[in-house]
Amino acid sequence: MLRSTRVKRHVPARTGFGFAVNVGDLIRITDLEGQQPVDFWAFNRANVTEYLSCEHTKPSISRLYPRIGDAAYTNHRRPIVRLVEDNSPGQHDMQFAACDRWRYIELGAALPHASCTDNLHLALDDLAIRIGFTPQPWNLFTNFFVEPDGTFTIKAPDTKAGDNLTLRAEMDAYIVVSACPQDMNATCGGRPSDIQVEVGTA
Ligand SMILES: [Zn+2]
Repeated sequence: MLRSTRVKRHVPARTGFGFAVNVGDLIRITDLEGQQPVDFWAFNRANVTEYLSCEHTKPSISRLYPRIGDAAYTNHRRPIVRLVEDNSPGQHDMQFAACDRWRYIELGAALPHASCTDNLHLALDDLAIRIGFTPQPWNLFTNFFVEPDGTFTIKAPDTKAGDNLTLRAEMDAYIVVSACPQDMNATCGGRPSDIQVEVGTA
C-alpha cells in the first residue's frame, strides 16, 4: 500500500523520533526484531492542543483499541490517523500511560533510565514544540490483556520480526514514536529493540 516513501528512519531501541505528515500520508511502523511496543502520539499541526486521545477514541469506535478501518480520534473527537493495514497480531493497547521516570522508580530501576515520556518531549523539542503535558499514547504492538473481570496482565507482545502496520493521516499532523525502553517487566519481552518508520504515499 505504501509505494512512494519519502522518509525511512531506523529508530534505535529506547529512543524516539518526531516528524510531520500531511493529510493522506501513509505511516508504516515496523517491529524489526519482534516483541517491541511502540508508543505513538499525534498532534494537529495547526493546533497542538488538539491531539490523539485514547479516552476520546474508545467511545467513538466502541472498542478498547482500533482495528483495521478504525480511526484514532482527537480530544476534539475528529479522526487524526486511521489504521489501514495491519501485518501483526493486532494488539494495540489504549489503556495505559507512557512509561516515565516515576514508573521506573516504582519498579526499582537504576536511574537515569530512558522513558517514552522523555522520548516524546525530546522529539517535540526537535520539532520546536513545547507542551506542558503528556497525552496517553496509543501503545502499538502492546499486549496488555484485559480479562473479563476487569483485571489485566502485562504480557510480552506476540509480534515477530518484521511485523508492521500502516496508518493514514486524517489531518496534517506531528507524529512522535518511541521504541519503549521498558526492561523491568514483560512489556517488551524483557529486551527493548529497534523499530523502523516509513512515511510516504500510496
Ligand atoms: Zn515506554
